[in-house]
Amino acid sequence: MKKYILTLDEGTTSARAIIFDECGNIVSLAQNEFTQIYPKAGYVEHDPIEILSAQYSAITECIIKSGLTADQISAVGITNQRETAVVWNRHTGEPIYNAIVWQCRRTAGICEQLKRDGYEQYIADTTGLKIDAYFSGTKIKWLLDNIEGARELAQRGDLLFGTVDTWLMWKLSGGKIHATDQTNASRTMLYDIHNLYWDKKLLEILDIPECMLPTVQKSGSNYGSIDIMGVSLPVCGVAGDQQSALFGQHCVNAGDLKNTYGTGCFLLMNTGETAVSSQNGMLTTIAATVEGTPTQYALEGSVFIGGAVIQWLRDEMKLIDNAAQSEDCARAVNDSAGVYIVPAFSGLGAPYWDMYARGTICGLSRGANRNHIVRAGLESIAYQTNDLITAMQNDAEVKLGTLKADGGAARNRFLMQFQADISNTTVSVPENAEATALGAALLVGITAGIINTKDIKNINSTSTVFSPQINNDTRNKLLNGWKSAIKSTIEFTKE
Ligand code: ADP
Repeated sequence: MKKYILTLDEGTTSARAIIFDECGNIVSLAQNEFTQIYPKAGYVEHDPIEILSAQYSAITECIIKSGLTADQISAVGITNQRETAVVWNRHTGEPIYNAIVWQCRRTAGICEQLKRDGYEQYIADTTGLKIDAYFSGTKIKWLLDNIEGARELAQRGDLLFGTVDTWLMWKLSGGKIHATDQTNASRTMLYDIHNLYWDKKLLEILDIPECMLPTVQKSGSNYGSIDIMGVSLPVCGVAGDQQSALFGQHCVNAGDLKNTYGTGCFLLMNTGETAVSSQNGMLTTIAATVEGTPTQYALEGSVFIGGAVIQWLRDEMKLIDNAAQSEDCARAVNDSAGVYIVPAFSGLGAPYWDMYARGTICGLSRGANRNHIVRAGLESIAYQTNDLITAMQNDAEVKLGTLKADGGAARNRFLMQFQADISNTTVSVPENAEATALGAALLVGITAGIINTKDIKNINSTSTVFSPQINNDTRNKLLNGWKSAIKSTIEFTKE
């Protein structure tokens, strides 16, 4: 009899449910968007009850569409938007406030204070993170400080905290499961990623009672059972979206790396059992592993403006009608004719870290046309990714493996070839683009004994591979041009 795995893929804008069979094939998929709440500039919230109902109706639709019944599903996995914080009352099950979303900047002031108090090094050493409003810790503090009566309730043990995985499991188990996995815990800025426990000193600094926090488990482990359409099903895999994609892309050895080419890009490199601390502004984070195997770590870096540069060329510059057309433009010319776009629309991230930088177009000659500019836009995604890859390689001192690509812009074959050329590495794009949901399904598959560990590498192994096709001279010339463009960009806003 066939075995099926249900994955809840709870993203930032929508909740999806996907049923995989034991070979990792997608049997059925359903998706529901939920409201993005922007109470004021820089604030982003979600309604936790709406997330729950969007997720639950995606689950029921997905199961009905599959033609299966819930009791034919063996186990459940969850992958989720990371860092987003929910606090609720354990007696009533009611959230005390909306979920504060990872993008929300309301706790920037708390972060500045932590820096002034000299905690940067301690936080980096303990949690692997740079102090930032992005992570959950300061969001919890904000809720306890700002919601009337919250601190007293928390101190009495009446409030619980969770990222969205925890919230969903708690609700769907009728309050029986209050747990998260190591990858989600490692994004709270409260978790000691080396000793694998909540750090008492950080809890004290942020004034967060430990009794609010969930139990932390291995990503692939048994969390207990939740109710799906009246059937009790075990949750056997949980991971934050980026770590889930790393696992789903089979990046389980040191040097393996994946890049998700979405609006921004998220590059993660597995560094094996060593937690590498970066000299180049990368984050150190826990990678997803299954019970009974050693903890693994990853370096993480992100490109702020990835596919977004293509949206800009389409919506603001009106140079293309749709994202796919960018590939035709790029292929219509032999090169970018010396044009570089540095899309520093909101500053430059790793490894430059210049928040004041703004975008530039360099190297224009009289012959530069629309195609050259569009091509330069696509190339900028690859150059920025390459800067992260180079920084990670320097940090980790490991040999670079194949770059596994996923996300919307990974459909652009010109971009994938240019990435292979410029990074002098093979780039592989799997046929099934659902790497994030697949990661959670594989964690479940191994933990529940549905998928044999030795068969994992054959799952979603059909991919398109791009190999480098340019020589070192050409590569160096192109990279030198990019370095000059970056230099000019930084220089331009330097008073
Ligand atoms: P997200 O999850 O961040 O919303 P997706 O993975 O859905 O992102 O990818 C969407 C992004 O990919 C958009 O920024 C879009 O411009 C870009 N994109 C989609 N298709 C292509 C393409 N064929 N070529 C280049 N960029 C693309």
